Amino acid sequence: MRIENLLIAVATVFLVASCAKPTAESETKKWEAMTKTLEMLGAKYPTFKAALQVVKSESAAQWESALKVTGDEQKIEAMQAANTSAYPSFVRDLDNIEDAMEKLKDRCSESTKGGDNSDRESLRNARNDAQRSLSEVGYLLKSRAVNTPVEASALTEEAVKKIANATSRIEKVLRRISDKERKKKAEQKAAEDKSKSEEKAKEEAKNPIKCSYCGTMNNHDALKCSSCGAPVEK
Ligand SMILES: [Zn+2]
Repeated sequence: MRIENLLIAVATVFLVASCAKPTAESETKKWEAMTKTLEMLGAKYPTFKAALQVVKSESAAQWESALKVTGDEQKIEAMQAANTSAYPSFVRDLDNIEDAMEKLKDRCSESTKGGDNSDRESLRNARNDAQRSLSEVGYLLKSRAVNTPVEASALTEEAVKKIANATSRIEKVLRRISDKERKKKAEQKAAEDKSKSEEKAKEEAKNPIKCSYCGTMNNHDALKCSSCGAPVEK
């Protein structure tokens, strides 16, 4: 096992272990990361600042009271609840949408071979559609101020849906083109193999034929053996 793989395996074991059994330490680390994420998103998406602020203060209040809970198990549970409340669906959407948009951009610039005219047109349309969705979502996320988490959710849901739809549309076209291309290549290969084997059979037919009676080698087009006169079997 290579050392990187070993490290990944060890890290995975720790990660699984830490997921399976949360501790006050792991929840504190998570809380610190959540706080940073909220800060980062607020800086990146200023129109969401108010909604993010609501999440931040509500979850911070939950966190503060969690710290006062007595009894380890109950305390950890309260900490987990605070962490969950710091990451509602609109925060998760905001946190992930940039990656989704990057992925869509990659799909748009993916080069393709093959496909007929109608595929080319579908691809062109899907790419235009994707570009339009990307700029619409960019606009949605940067220019419309949202004040509450409910408003924020409605907006991020719309944004996520736009990106997901555009992505699946372009992926469908890309898949159709690559399937056709694969099929075309397979057909070409089959045709090549067929003509090769026909060629081979023709060549073989020109080989001299041995007389089955006397063993003399005769021309491939001989009807009778040149030595004994027996019919040449082909
Ligand atoms: Zn013969």
